[in-house]
Amino acid sequence: TDTTARTAGRHVPEGLPTHLQHFIDGELRDSIGGETFDVLDPVSNETYATAAAGQAADVDAAVRAAGRAFEDGPWPTTAPRGRARVLNRIADLVEASDARLAELETFDTGLPITQALGQAQRAAENFRFFADLVVAQTDDAYKVPGKQINYVNRKPVGVAGLITPWNTPFMLESWKLAPALASGCAVVLKPAEFTPLSASLWADIFTEAGLPKGVFNLVNGIGEEAGDALVKHPGTRLISFTGETTTGQLIFRNCAGSLKGMSMELGGKSPAVVFADADLEAALDSTLFGVFSLNGERCTAGSRILVQREIYDEFVERYAARARNIVVGDPHDPRTEVGALVHPEHYERVMGYVEIGKTEGRLVAGGSRPEHLPVGNYLAPTVFADVPATARIFQEEIFGPVVAITPFEDEAEAIRLANDVKYGLAGYVWTSDLQRGHRVAHSIEAGMVWLNSHNVRDLRSPFGGVKASGLGHEGGYRSIDFYTEQQAVHITL
Ligand code: NAD
Repeated sequence: TDTTARTAGRHVPEGLPTHLQHFIDGELRDSIGGETFDVLDPVSNETYATAAAGQAADVDAAVRAAGRAFEDGPWPTTAPRGRARVLNRIADLVEASDARLAELETFDTGLPITQALGQAQRAAENFRFFADLVVAQTDDAYKVPGKQINYVNRKPVGVAGLITPWNTPFMLESWKLAPALASGCAVVLKPAEFTPLSASLWADIFTEAGLPKGVFNLVNGIGEEAGDALVKHPGTRLISFTGETTTGQLIFRNCAGSLKGMSMELGGKSPAVVFADADLEAALDSTLFGVFSLNGERCTAGSRILVQREIYDEFVERYAARARNIVVGDPHDPRTEVGALVHPEHYERVMGYVEIGKTEGRLVAGGSRPEHLPVGNYLAPTVFADVPATARIFQEEIFGPVVAITPFEDEAEAIRLANDVKYGLAGYVWTSDLQRGHRVAHSIEAGMVWLNSHNVRDLRSPFGGVKASGLGHEGGYRSIDFYTEQQAVHITL
């Protein structure tokens, strides 16, 4: 049958689990009421596993376990060096699992295998980095000679709820887990329901590295159930969320009652501004990478390209030609550059935008499912030119391999167009005029700007968005500040 042929043709990782559980108080568990949800792979869109669907009672058990681990210790009062040792062991174990992690991540998310490889190393670096930071950390002290001393007594906040999205799920989980654990918090992680597979690796990694029981807990489940319960639970003192802006707004409202700490990394519609004096080859390479790597399912995707009129026609032509040559295919095939989008629901949404785009701009590449891939969530890299700022495909996050190109006349118009959306996550500027590069970078309303570059980021620098793209910044000591209280202690002499 059709189904057998499809199943036979796809790569299925050896030992693929068929059921995924919660990890609560050091134990793998199902939901108390036995609820489950189906997990699909994006190549066949068939169910390959069920996962425990956490309900309020399961979240309560996890938050209580984390609360006990926090109250009873020893993790929150372990010296930074002791925590760093555990974090470094975690990093080694994560790194050693690179091949397996990449295989699972590719199977579950549809990410090209060559791009999934290396995610473990990035995750491992997050643990090493925050281990180093807490060991090197100093805190402020102030003295008025002969009169008083005031100093900062830093302490972990308590139980942190970590809610993560389905794009590069394991790596993004590490970006929250590492600083939370380094700070001495206990955590409950709620991974995205589209992609729970790679998160199932954490339990063994943390146990083997010697993290005390109950410090790390994981509850799988649907956002509106497990995520919602985690946000509303009185025992979580912090919520660190990465996901869509509308979800972030809902969580913000739900946190209001208890005034818990929030960090929000939300959506984006980031501009890449290409001036006529740019190194065109480099700008083409980078703007293609910016929206077609990671299947376009990248929060910092440069999904709007603004190009100066003098080079506009040439840019569009060369960009479209390159986009048409991108290899779309089975995510496990090392030749694949764009794989399958994560889930049929997301695929429908992206395809909806492609149809809208056909009425709003000029389609110059892609625009449909590639003919050789009749099954699975595949879309040929799609390029729309002449897209006006009023277009929905200019304004709204698509989160797939779809890009809008728009011409501009001068610097002022470039800045106006760049800022003419509700989002403000990232921006990219391409010019060989150094002064203008900095000027435009400073004028773009975005938390992060890359000038004649992309994807280079020191972990000490701030990460986060402005406007509808987020609240608060993580990265370096900002992350530690989020997961710790800075109590001021005053004494007279
Ligand atoms: P999403 O908002 O649908 O889901 C994110 C997480 O929130 C999931 O775990 C989900 O189960 C949970 N959730 C959903 N409803 C909830 C609720 N009512 N209460 C509590 N939790 C709830 O986002 P997604 O589709 O998984 O991820 C894609 C989005 O994430 C894109 O908008 C992308 O830009 C954004 N993103 C941002 C960054 C960043 O750093 N700024 C990084 C990656 C992804």
